[in-house]
Amino acid sequence: MTVELDEMVSLFKKELALCKLKPTETMAVLTSGEIRADYAKAFLTAASQIGANAFELKLPPVKNASKDTFGITPLTDNRVAVECLKKADLVIDLVLLLFSKEQLELQDAGVRILLVVEPFDVIKRMFPKESDKERVLYATELLRNAKELRVTNKAGTDVKYQLGQYPILTEYGYADEPGRWDHLPSCFAAATSNDGGVDGIVVMDKGDIFFPFNRYLQDPIELTIKDGFVTKIEGGFDAMLMKEYIESFNDPRAYAISHIGWGLNERAQWHSLAFDDQVFGMDGRAFYGNVLFSLGPNSELGGNNDTPCHLDLPMKNCTLYLDGKLIVKDGDIVIDEMKPVKPQHA
Ligand code: FE
Repeated sequence: MTVELDEMVSLFKKELALCKLKPTETMAVLTSGEIRADYAKAFLTAASQIGANAFELKLPPVKNASKDTFGITPLTDNRVAVECLKKADLVIDLVLLLFSKEQLELQDAGVRILLVVEPFDVIKRMFPKESDKERVLYATELLRNAKELRVTNKAGTDVKYQLGQYPILTEYGYADEPGRWDHLPSCFAAATSNDGGVDGIVVMDKGDIFFPFNRYLQDPIELTIKDGFVTKIEGGFDAMLMKEYIESFNDPRAYAISHIGWGLNERAQWHSLAFDDQVFGMDGRAFYGNVLFSLGPNSELGGNNDTPCHLDLPMKNCTLYLDGKLIVKDGDIVIDEMKPVKPQHA
């Protein structure tokens, strides 16, 4: 084995242990074409070292889909493949099933799903710790018990979300329970508002991030929000790009407000996009103390908006309150239970 494959196998073996893969279980790796073939090989080797059964299911690439549309995947309309994956205990998703009805069907069948699409150096740097789970579950409880979430920033944001109708999105980087989906690497929690329950103004500042464009904003964008939908997008060049992109879907549901939460991964780096435009962007999404604002679907949390237009919009230096209680102040977490766990000296 090459040094890198060796290193991959040992890191993925740690990940499979976090996912509680047992020797009596079966792990499937879902692939398409030759993309991330090294990951597939390393996961299969790691699973057999654990003593579990494993197989790779390789599908042809998606027909007629652009790379920026979520929900249409190589599994779409491939019933035999879906039924086959349902029999696995853990599916390693290397093709991006996120926001597809097939992913929800697998979760309903009790399958654990782990998405792995980031470059290896990002996975290595942001690799989950068991203490991350406790911190993310703490954030999840805060969100679950809150009725109102408010975000402000110095650029002029002041927006309120009514909460309580939908479950909380909890990502700590490993899928260790039946039906659980997670993303390697990760580390954040997010809620989605009650139907129609978002009002206010969001001003994304220069330097905030615009996914899936993998772009830092060059100037502010001001979004006016009424009853859960964006009604106005103002600003310069970046606002024009955002408007055009959303319009191209020709879908009024694309203007809906999606999940909102804050990042807790202190190993994430805001500047990582500057070095690698192939990253999916978990650095920005899980960045410690960010506010992850987003537009589009809420179907992954049980809502009925499944628009394929999804924008994740991480914002730095925001302040966030739950029912008036300060949680994040100017981009820093103020609650001890969610601060990074310091390494213990022997
Ligand atoms: Fe998202």
